Amino acid sequence: MAKINPFHVAKQQIDRCAEILNLAPNVTAMLKTPMRELHVSLAVRMDDGSVKIFQGFRVQYNDAKGITKGGIRFHPDETIDTVRALAAWMTWKCALLDLPLGGAKGGVICNPKEMSVGELERLSRAYMRGVFQFIGPEKDVPAPDVYTTPQIMAWMMDEYSAIAGKPQFGVITGKPLPVGGSPGRGDATARGGMYTIREAAKTLGIDLSKATVAVQGYGNAGYHAARLCGELFGSRILAVCDSKGGVYCEAGIDPEAAFACKAETSSVCNLPNMERISMEELLELDVDILIPAAIENVITDKNASNIKAKIVAELANGPTTPEADDILFRNGVHVIPDFLCNAGGVTVSYFEMVQNFYMYSWEEAEVRERLDKRMTAAYHSVLNTSREYKINMRQAAYVQAVERVVEAMKLRGWV
Ligand code: GLU
Repeated sequence: MAKINPFHVAKQQIDRCAEILNLAPNVTAMLKTPMRELHVSLAVRMDDGSVKIFQGFRVQYNDAKGITKGGIRFHPDETIDTVRALAAWMTWKCALLDLPLGGAKGGVICNPKEMSVGELERLSRAYMRGVFQFIGPEKDVPAPDVYTTPQIMAWMMDEYSAIAGKPQFGVITGKPLPVGGSPGRGDATARGGMYTIREAAKTLGIDLSKATVAVQGYGNAGYHAARLCGELFGSRILAVCDSKGGVYCEAGIDPEAAFACKAETSSVCNLPNMERISMEELLELDVDILIPAAIENVITDKNASNIKAKIVAELANGPTTPEADDILFRNGVHVIPDFLCNAGGVTVSYFEMVQNFYMYSWEEAEVRERLDKRMTAAYHSVLNTSREYKINMRQAAYVQAVERVVEAMKLRGWV
């Protein structure tokens, strides 16, 4: 099967939104085009003494609403079009949450699972040197994403500061706490998603304390989501999986045991005394809540009609294709779209930026309260728009976000 190009998906989504909002062709064209992008070749000394060249990207999609913001992915299948799509989604995400930010994304084609700590540090520093001229605390602020970590953020911040000749904590978010990180950033993506699940459950009349959950992907977002579903709601985790496979257990899976198993054996699929299942099977389980928390295009026209979950909470970016969206909507599945559901990460990143600018630190409780307020408000305004226009939740999120970006572009005299 041909790979689905995420940027084609992102542009298709804009076309659908432009139709609903009756946007002028020049406005639509601008929304479908990245404002600026940088391609860099990074020469990195490997442990065996050889020098390997890696390709990296940074796409600043649209800065009509402010400093551009978005993570950096380290992934073997990274492409410029994936980064463009992710940068576009960051633009809508920041606008939807009413953050004074534009959207960007970065990526490096590499396989961090096959690299030593030293190689990863040298690659991270090389990336920062490559994009140094292009980013900055008042220009474009990266963050963690797939396979990048707070430690990687710390190295990148250090490299940027060394070149700038002064500490520049605000150049990147998702840092460890002792070097300018924000309390609550670690699980912010999952926690923000939980607030939207809580509101969706109220809307649909689902009792979360009796709900069952399946989690696809067990990185930062997936693990914290599984943990918080139990902690905050008392829901039962029936299945989890990662890129190597998954497990199912009717009695429920302990998220911490799954985390420990992944740390020790590199996959949750080695959890003892459980039924093994594939990712495909997990997605089609009869659960109340399905949480895709890994990468793009896992729910497509091939499997959408088999999805039995009542709520699909998209903690990943771009897990559902437009064709699959239509099928889910027709079947009455309540989708909490990615750039609403996973916006908790960038929202707390924004809080981190504010704290870095002010040289001040908030308590974790304050971060959580502010996050809850923004996520809850965003969820309900998307729900209201979807009811008002009789469109699905993703289209409603697009309508809101794009309206705000277009308003800013008009006020600035761009269109
Ligand atoms: N990588 C996260 C996302 O896709 C966070 C981005 C950020 O914090 O800037 O939303």
